[in-house]
Amino acid sequence: MNVPDIIIAVDGFSATGKSSFAKLAATEMSFIYLDSGALYRAVTLFALENSLIAEDGTIDEAGLADALPGLDIHFERTDNGSETHIGSRSVEKAIRGMEVSSHVSPVSAIPFVREFVDGILHEAGKAGRVIMDGRDIGTTVFPDAQVKIFMTADVEIRTQRRYDELKAKGENPDYEEVKKNLLERDYIDSHRETSPLSRAVDSYEMNNSDMTLHEEIVWLRGLLQGKFGILDA
Ligand code: C5P
Repeated sequence: MNVPDIIIAVDGFSATGKSSFAKLAATEMSFIYLDSGALYRAVTLFALENSLIAEDGTIDEAGLADALPGLDIHFERTDNGSETHIGSRSVEKAIRGMEVSSHVSPVSAIPFVREFVDGILHEAGKAGRVIMDGRDIGTTVFPDAQVKIFMTADVEIRTQRRYDELKAKGENPDYEEVKKNLLERDYIDSHRETSPLSRAVDSYEMNNSDMTLHEEIVWLRGLLQGKFGILDA
């Protein structure tokens, strides 16, 4: 797909398939894909591993604020995409488990954590030709993104997708627990004070409950064609 140098923002609720869609779209368009949730997950993993989150879920905000400026979180390219790193260590697998999932929303509601992640995202998006997924990309991080997509899907379908994903990664998830976590994160993400999850008024909504990934890409192609004209050489 021959697409101009733009930024595409993909936002939506948890497990709506944003990253699968954005990853494939990036490959099709020769764009860079950036997973903003992975950065919030990496901060959360760091906090858990450094005893900055107590058993009852209380976050040591002062300790986290001290540690963040020296924390090196970045993406490294691999043969089949990219992996999230803390320093020289790949944390790609560790950040996807249920433990991180159950603490990430309170961590990402902290304003200085959002500032830290936004700094990384702004730097990465500077050059354009980027498709980024998250909760507030089209509303806060890149409010001028030329294309904004808001993804939704039925909650049972989202739960099943996340359940299958965790199973494939060797975890032993409980369906109801996965569903509860998605709903909890949706609630916290859309009710926090700093850049809550909300649909940008100028976004295009995609409900992919009954769509295959291939159909999602066809949908995107149609949208881009409508906006920018004929895309294929
Ligand atoms: O996208 P993913 O589900 O991996 O994101 C994990 C969590 O990170 C979300 O539930 C949300 O709390 C937080 N997040 C956010 N803003 C973003 C991306 C993710 O608050 N732009």
